[in-house]
Amino acid sequence: MSDLGTPDNPLRAAIVGSGPAGFYTAEALLANDDVSVEVDMFDRLPTPFGLVRAGVAPDHPKIKNVIRRYEKTAASEGFRFFGNVEVGRELSPAELTERYHAAIYAYGSSTDRRLGIPGEDLPGSHAATEFVAWYNAHPDFADREFDLSCERAVVIGNGNVAADVARMLALTREELEQTDTADHAIEPMAKSGIREIVVLGRRGPAQAAFTNPEVRELGEMIDADIVIDPAECELDPLSRAYLESDGADITARKNVDIFTEFSHREPEGKRRRIVLRFLCSPVEIRGDGEVESIVIGRNELVEGSSGRLSARDTGEREELRCGLVFRSIGYRGIGLEGVPFDEDRGVIRNEGGRVLDDEGGQVEGQYVVGWIKRGPSGVIGTNKKDAQETIDNLFSDLERGHVPAPAGAADGSSIEELLAERSPDAVVSYAGWKAIDAAERQRGEPLGRPRVKFCTIDEMVEAARSGEPVGAE
Ligand code: NAP
Repeated sequence: MSDLGTPDNPLRAAIVGSGPAGFYTAEALLANDDVSVEVDMFDRLPTPFGLVRAGVAPDHPKIKNVIRRYEKTAASEGFRFFGNVEVGRELSPAELTERYHAAIYAYGSSTDRRLGIPGEDLPGSHAATEFVAWYNAHPDFADREFDLSCERAVVIGNGNVAADVARMLALTREELEQTDTADHAIEPMAKSGIREIVVLGRRGPAQAAFTNPEVRELGEMIDADIVIDPAECELDPLSRAYLESDGADITARKNVDIFTEFSHREPEGKRRRIVLRFLCSPVEIRGDGEVESIVIGRNELVEGSSGRLSARDTGEREELRCGLVFRSIGYRGIGLEGVPFDEDRGVIRNEGGRVLDDEGGQVEGQYVVGWIKRGPSGVIGTNKKDAQETIDNLFSDLERGHVPAPAGAADGSSIEELLAERSPDAVVSYAGWKAIDAAERQRGEPLGRPRVKFCTIDEMVEAARSGEPVGAE
């Protein structure tokens, strides 16, 4: 339709997922003064903001300030939120395609990568992603139990999630009680018997994926010493040559400086220790019915075909007693029936955010942004540029007449009618979310906490009901 994108015939976009990628996408769509756009955003939870709510560590409240920007987008004319609506459950991708000019998938990477070693599934061995979701009050994980009574926990991986987990395990009760950590997690974490948290990196200090502030924080814990064996901090010749080269990554250089400073510290005798180990891969998790130890293989670094230094097993082994293992080796995306998926990479098959079919042809009307587009990498802000790329391509498709007209009724009421049939009284609008938000903040106020989160869908829906009339806004 040639007048598509005019006030009489706005471009209607469905965004599936309300995390940073979804919100930057909505912002990019609604910021275009030349095209009239209506955005309907869906989330499987009644609450928006994805990993900003359920992933960012509770002791990092400043990172969550980005929500203010998303709130401005949500207040824009043409924006609606449909919470507690899962695409793949209440709605199918085909039903979106029937009702929208563009369906934009922004649902992230919801599962964890597997180590593929014996003992990985023993009780006491957990995906870090699940622990994170539990202490952040994600309703799917609220009834999980983590036995934190052991003395030593091992965190596998050298990314920021591993840093978050190590830090959270080392917080004091006083620190935890100032945060929005889930109520069910505060007591077990405050009473935890853990005295040592060992973080294993399979490569060396120069290859750690941590960002500098996250590393620095590990050395600033109120009641935990940071410990690195100076010998493990020694750089191998290949890493040293890389760090001295002009092309060296500044974050890596700085990380190595910080690690080196840590390795010269004398422990102050604090209640806990965070021990960073390098060139250590988990080989096996052992135990009779539960985690009792982990077998670590010693690695050396070798130049891989892509120029990347990779870890090679030296055959040397060490067994470390521990009662808990957190596997923090990255998230992984899962597919959605009806949308082409690249199983190897765990992303929706795409080029520049345009969804591609198995033969590489564009699937008109389908787009993708964020982790489910590029994989689980980057910080929150990375999603802004990523979303802009996809939306630039969508607008370019619009200009070239490659945005198909939906087969069904392309107006705002048809989705409301469908949802009223499928999910009566359960859909949470943005006004409903604001009621949840207000109730959570109110619960936190007398305790001096930013909020006390609801941990079940029922509580959330009930709080939403007590606010503005619920339904599409
Ligand atoms: P990540 O940054 O990709 O780190 C994954 C880590 O796991 C890497 O150290 C990787 O080592 C290691 N690993 C992968 N496979 C392994 C294996 N088989 N055995 C042992 N180690 C293995 O992933 P993430 O920590 O889950 O974080 C995801 C994204 O969220 C990142 O971009 C991160 O920066 C971001 N994030 C940011 C913040 C923040 O800004 N505060 C907080 C949390 C997360 P190799 O390098 O050798 O592959």
